[in-house]
Amino acid sequence: MIGQVLEDELLNKVTKPTRYTGGEYNQVKKDWANVDTTMVFAFPDVYEVGMSHLGLRILYHLINDQESMLMERVFAPWTDMEEEMRKRDLPLFSLESRRPLKEFDVVGFTLQYEMSYTNILNMLDLAQIPLLSQDRADDDPLVIAGGPCAVNPEPLADFLDLVILGEGEEILPILLKKIGNFKKEMAGSKEAAPGRRQTLLRQLSQLPGVYVPSMYQAHYDDGGHYKGLEKLDGSAPDRICKQVIQDFDQAYFPTQSMVPFMGVVHDRVMLEVLRGCSRACRFCQAGTIYRPVRERSAETLQRQADELIRQTGYDEIALTSLSTADHTCIEPLVKALLQAHEEKRVGLSLPSLRVDAFSVNLAREVQKVRKTGLTFAPEAGTQRLRDVINKGVTEEDLMETIEKAFQGGWHTIKLYFMMGLPTEEEEDLEGIARLAEKVAYMGSDIFRSKGIRKNIKVTISLSSFVPKPQTPFQWEAQNSIAQLEEKQQFLKKRIRDRRITYNWHDAKVSFIEAVMAKGDRRLAKVLLKAWEKGARFDGWTEHFRYDRWVEAFQETEIDPAYYAYRNIEYNEPLPWDHLDYGVDRSYLVREHKKAMEAALTQDCRHHSCSACGVCPSLGISVDLRGGDHGQNSDRL
Ligand code: SF4
Repeated sequence: MIGQVLEDELLNKVTKPTRYTGGEYNQVKKDWANVDTTMVFAFPDVYEVGMSHLGLRILYHLINDQESMLMERVFAPWTDMEEEMRKRDLPLFSLESRRPLKEFDVVGFTLQYEMSYTNILNMLDLAQIPLLSQDRADDDPLVIAGGPCAVNPEPLADFLDLVILGEGEEILPILLKKIGNFKKEMAGSKEAAPGRRQTLLRQLSQLPGVYVPSMYQAHYDDGGHYKGLEKLDGSAPDRICKQVIQDFDQAYFPTQSMVPFMGVVHDRVMLEVLRGCSRACRFCQAGTIYRPVRERSAETLQRQADELIRQTGYDEIALTSLSTADHTCIEPLVKALLQAHEEKRVGLSLPSLRVDAFSVNLAREVQKVRKTGLTFAPEAGTQRLRDVINKGVTEEDLMETIEKAFQGGWHTIKLYFMMGLPTEEEEDLEGIARLAEKVAYMGSDIFRSKGIRKNIKVTISLSSFVPKPQTPFQWEAQNSIAQLEEKQQFLKKRIRDRRITYNWHDAKVSFIEAVMAKGDRRLAKVLLKAWEKGARFDGWTEHFRYDRWVEAFQETEIDPAYYAYRNIEYNEPLPWDHLDYGVDRSYLVREHKKAMEAALTQDCRHHSCSACGVCPSLGISVDLRGGDHGQNSDRL
């Protein structure tokens, strides 16, 4: 029925109808009658964004490769589609079987970004699934979540039945299997089973890495400060530990990949070369949650690349990770991949580069034909502040790298900076402008001396610092919106050079992001209210409306400044204390204190262990494939 309405009435009324059709090459469509458990992977953003997400591609094929289970997909419908669906009371449906979400056993959201939270509520509502987990009946799906924001899912605790911490490849099939077995047991039992849902959740909470929020109650003191969680059920674990893959080289990786009919953000083969990053930037949450660094061997990667190219017909392979140029075998790997696919003219891309000359050499290797711009992230404008955040990059590094880029013929350079970092002063902002000017002058000089008549373009992109859980800056306050806006204007006035383009992020969005990142369970009311007022697609400039959020905070009597603007004491309980990512609090405290002294911590891949605690607590170690473990380190 849904398929009929979709094709007869909806697709010709909405923009980009292929967002809703499914049927892509390498899509998997399984027979519901032959599986025990059904799950829909719900991405709380549009199709183009979701289909570019590697986690979706991995888990989709992993689950569909298991005989007893299936996974389908759903993305957030764009506002025009939502309107049409609501007009017809059409429930949100999956792309593969076009079944309503409420017919699945599990609806699994990925939490990529705090500003997608209202889309989760919207999707549940469109799916006609009760928003609050306590209102769901036995035959409603389990609403689960995982992904980077699971590091503090407390603002969503009332809406989620369970949360998976860490990497899902091993635990998700186990979880789905258990759900399938439970269903079979229940079908066989003659007696009606009241509280079936609770029984299942209690059983699932015993799995490693699985957090069932409803089994805990949050407490606050008279002053409104978070005091801690109380277990409502003795069987619930005190702490929930993130899951990691022990052998990343042998870990599941799909060698098919869906080929969308429409352009998506990353429309190419994605090869995950390594996981984790130990450069220890102090603002970076990914640096904590994906520790320790584990690389795939060059042989495995080559085999996967061959198969993926054969299966998809793509002509580009992206080597993805938090810092691809860090792979200890990257040079031979790049050469081998280029050579192997030369005939078919398959190109390579490296989405993440570090600030060093080695990266430019690599980029030169992979971009012989078509030179797209180069992007680097010095993050701060002065050496002092770069040391505070432990960026480990000097101005000489940066200038040497960029000189190499200009010498190599690049004329478009993009530089990422962050404003509002702890201890930031006016001269740090001034440093951003000065650095950008220096780069522009250097580029013009080099081009002039070579007689090249091409304009230099330097783009500086400025985001605002958001203190994130499980980082050394989790105790820090964010700058106020007014302060951030003042700093943005300062730079706007300061940058007069026409070769420099200056972009900045909306400070109000960063504020809401900080509130949600460090929030507790009380924020569920705010999310609900903001969504009722129409908030959705908050990460999209054209849809974000700050006034809705202000009203939502006022009407729920919750002060957002409490979450974003307050310096937290080291000994205060934190809403995410029960979620164990393996990194010791003492390490985070140590790193925070070192930040205040602008003292550096070295990368544990090439230097001594800095005792973050991850390896001993997870029983795992840094896994490098390059033999000498540091062939590029002299160039850092
Ligand atoms: S325990 Fe040591 S070696 Fe392991 S990730 Fe932490 S700092 Fe690196």
